[in-house]
Amino acid sequence: MSLSAFIPLTGRCSCAALSYTLTASPLITHICYCTWCQRESGSICAVNSIIESSNFSYRLDPTVSQPVALIPGPTPSGNGQTVARCPVCFDGLWKYYGDARFVTYVKAGTLDEECFKRVAGGERVHIYTSTKPEWVDLGREKENGVGVFEEYYVRETVWVQEALERREKMLKAVEGVGS
Ligand SMILES: [Zn+2]
Ligand SMILES: [Zn+2]
Repeated sequence: MSLSAFIPLTGRCSCAALSYTLTASPLITHICYCTWCQRESGSICAVNSIIESSNFSYRLDPTVSQPVALIPGPTPSGNGQTVARCPVCFDGLWKYYGDARFVTYVKAGTLDEECFKRVAGGERVHIYTSTKPEWVDLGREKENGVGVFEEYYVRETVWVQEALERREKMLKAVEGVGS
């Protein structure tokens, strides 16, 4: 699908004060069953769609006087993360890892229903499955050629070529800004 034909993906928090748009398909979606994501999400896994921040924008209801809450938190790697939360209902909608603000991890469960369906059926990988519940059976995903990894994975063996190229472009743009 050409980029011009891409229909933007939209999502929002539960009170609808904060909404966002993705103007390209995610590079990939991580379905992560690590114990850290389980604690943070209060669920069996986190579903994070990775996108260049240049393809991500948000809108906060102008009647809300506080800015988007950027809440710092730890990560197992020690690099830390920042979760962007609605200042009214405090739902977390996206996050950044470390200082890398040029790449946005969208909490995909906050996408609008049809958009979530598109993303959930798109390029994805299941990671840290060693700590998933037994009753989550990923046999069908494996049959369909979707990556399922007990821990992490090698990017080049999982991401589609277009996503790898977009990543390269993103990193080059960041270098350009820094120099
Ligand atoms: Zn809200
Ligand atoms: Zn995780």
